[in-house]
Amino acid sequence: MTNEDEPEATEPLRRLSDILLRPYLVRELLWCGACDVPWVPILFPPMSRYYVCTKKECSRPAMPARLTEHPVWSRFVRTHGTLAQGVPRERRHGVLKYELRRVVVRDGMVLRLEWWR
Ligand SMILES: [Zn+2]
Repeated sequence: MTNEDEPEATEPLRRLSDILLRPYLVRELLWCGACDVPWVPILFPPMSRYYVCTKKECSRPAMPARLTEHPVWSRFVRTHGTLAQGVPRERRHGVLKYELRRVVVRDGMVLRLEWWR
């Protein structure tokens, strides 16, 4: 359940260094429900973290990272109570990658979590 090497990373992802990517809890998990393509982390200067659709013409605005990550993690904790307890911040991305197939951004910026099982 390690995921530190990311061979499938898309080009926009590669533009951010590993260190800058680390706080993006739901990286490689967000999926655009409208365009059927991934969303990727971006950083607006100086340090505003966002996720955005990889299709430039997408009608959905970039989402502030915290507003995306908080609901996903809260829902994970609610679903996996004891497992989620005590997972340190730096391991949360790995845990989510292991449990979640993807998180689809739907109309009204509603997030639909798709579990592996
Ligand atoms: Zn899109």
